[in-house]
Formats: sequence, structure tokens, C-alpha cells
Amino acid sequence: MHVHQPVLTWPTAAALLGAYFAGPIADVDQPQSYVGQRVWPLAVLLSVVGMRHRRLTHSLLFLATLWAPLRFLPVPDVVRWAVWIGYASHPAIDPLNEEGVELLWPWRFRVKLLPNPLAIPVESFRETVLRRVMAAFSALLFAGYVRPALRQVPFAGPALAAASDGLIRLFPASIQALIR
Ligand SMILES: [Zn+2]
Repeated sequence: MHVHQPVLTWPTAAALLGAYFAGPIADVDQPQSYVGQRVWPLAVLLSVVGMRHRRLTHSLLFLATLWAPLRFLPVPDVVRWAVWIGYASHPAIDPLNEEGVELLWPWRFRVKLLPNPLAIPVESFRETVLRRVMAAFSALLFAGYVRPALRQVPFAGPALAAASDGLIRLFPASIQALIR
């Protein structure tokens, strides 16, 4: 899709930031959540109209609808996609939880990817492990993709490239192979 997007550019920085902020937005349907507390009028409105947690804002229907306003944003394609993928990553990960997600809303069926003993409860040790593994993997991908661009940075280039090489070498060879 945008695999040839130059790394050290403003659109790339905007795309990363956009994805970062889009990720938690779906939880606006829960007044106690980080996002729900910050935009509480919307959180309260959603709960008043019966949109309980992990329903409308976590559905495939909403994801498809979200693309319409994103299409008209005056931003480069890479930013549009990053925001959409950032948002989508949330309902993609939530089904690992024992509560599941109404992905197919308005069909009221809760999609769960793991049986209860293996499911990952909110704020549990398992969630922390999953979070760290995903953060480490993101760092690996980032280091892999920025490495060629880092070499071009004036003065600090070799040191930055060596740092990203060092980070990549922390991973087992089989995982390193994913970015080579
Ligand atoms: Zn959620």
C-alpha cells in the first residue's frame, strides 16, 4: 500500500501520531475509560442511547463508515490510512478479552478470540505482557524501516543506524528475519 513511503518526513510523523491517537478512541463508549473521561458528554450520550461498551464504536460497520469522513480530510493518503488502521487495531485486539466485542453490530453477537481461561483480562499481568511484546515488535519494525533513512542523517547518521542495529539484534534471528 504505502510501503515506499519515505520514513523521515512530516507525513510519516503525522501518520504515526494519527495512529497513536486514533487507537484508544473506540473506548469513548465507556465513561470510565481514558477517552470517555476526556470527552464525557459524548460518552454519556452514547450510554444514554444504549450504546454500551464494545458495541457501535467497536463494530465493523462503524469502521467502514469512518472511512467516509477520513476520505475528505485534507491530509496525505498515508495519514488517512494510519488513522484508520490505528482505530481498527482497537476492535481487532479487544476480542482477546473475555468480554468479547460486538464486531458485527447491529447483530448482537460478541466475538471472542480466546476461550475464557486463556482470555486476557483488562489491566492484568497478561495484558502487560501482551502490551510489551507488541511495543517491542513495533520498535523492531520501526528500527528496521528507519535504518536506511537514519544513515542519511547528517553527522549523527552512523550512530543512529548503529543504535537501530543494536535494537534489532536484541531479537531472536527468526524474528529479525521478518524485517530483512
Ligand atoms: Zn475497547
